[in-house]
Amino acid sequence: MKAIMYHYVRDFDPAMPNFRFLNITNFRKQLDIFAREFGFVTRAEWAAYVRLGQMPADTGKVILTFDDAMSCHYTHVFPELMARGLWGIFYVPTGPYTGAGLLNVHRIHLLCGAHDGEDLWAHAQALVTEDMIPHAKRSEFRDATYAAQINRPGVSEFKRLLNYFIDERYRRDVIDQVARDFGTVFAPDSFYVPPAALAEMGNAGMMIGAHTVSHPVMSKLSVAEQAKEIAGSLGWIEQTVGSQDMRSYCHPYGGFHSFDAHTVMLLRENSVDFSFNVEPRDIDAKDIARQPHALPRHDCNLFAHGQAD
Ligand SMILES: [Zn+2]
Repeated sequence: MKAIMYHYVRDFDPAMPNFRFLNITNFRKQLDIFAREFGFVTRAEWAAYVRLGQMPADTGKVILTFDDAMSCHYTHVFPELMARGLWGIFYVPTGPYTGAGLLNVHRIHLLCGAHDGEDLWAHAQALVTEDMIPHAKRSEFRDATYAAQINRPGVSEFKRLLNYFIDERYRRDVIDQVARDFGTVFAPDSFYVPPAALAEMGNAGMMIGAHTVSHPVMSKLSVAEQAKEIAGSLGWIEQTVGSQDMRSYCHPYGGFHSFDAHTVMLLRENSVDFSFNVEPRDIDAKDIARQPHALPRHDCNLFAHGQAD
C-alpha cells in the first residue's frame, strides 16, 4: 500500500504570491491517476491491516493522509473526497484550538508565502543574536550560514533558523517581530478547520488523528514534555470528534530524526493503534508488526501532478 501525505490543497491567493501549496486542480488530477493505476484502500481494509496484519488482495492501493488541519482540508479536500466516495486520515495539531494561536511552523509558511525569502532571511539574521542559538547547535548553524551565503540565502535558511536552530524561548517573539516589521497579521481562527467541521468530517467517515499540541520536533523534548504533547492532542480529539474505531498519530515534521524511542513508548502507553512517519516507500505486510508507530508515507510531490504551485 502507498500512504500519501498532503499539506495545503487549495486555490491560488494573490495576497500570497510565494505561498507553496498543491493546487486543487492538480489534486483532482492526481486522484484520477491513483484511481486508474492503483485504487484506494477502503477503511475496512485498513482496519484489517492494522488489527490483523492482513494486506488487501491488491497490495498497491493508496491511502490518503492530510497534515495540520488547515482550513482547506474542510473547504477543498473534504468535499472532493466525499464526491468520490473516498476517505482520508486528517492529523490535527490541537494547540490552536486551546489558545496557542497560530503554530510557529505555520507563521513561517505565511511569512514565506507573502514576502521575498532573501528579505526575510536578512531581517531574521539581524534579529537573532548569537546568544539565542543554543551552544550545541552553534557550529551547525555556522555551517548552514556559510553554505547559505554560497547558495543565495533565502527561504530554506529562514526556515532552518526559526524552526530548528533558535532556542524555543525566543522563537515566537522573533517570528512575531518579523511579522510586525513586514506587516503580516496572523488569523488563527480562519487558518484551521473549525472544531465543529472536524466533528462533521469524522461523522462523515473521515478518520481524525492526533498530531501533538504544538507541533514540536519531539526528539528535542523531554519525556514529560512529549507525554503532554501526545496525551493532550489525543484527549482533545476524542472530546471534539468523539471516539473513533482506531487511535492514530502522526509525527510532526516526520523522518526518523523527528522522534525517538520515548515517543514510541508513549504512543504504545496511550493505546495508539498506528502512527505515520515520512519515509518514501510503500507499506508492506510486516510494517504493522515491525514498526506500527513509524509507518512509511510518500510525499504527494513524488507522484504526477503532486508538485506545489
Ligand atoms: Zn505537521
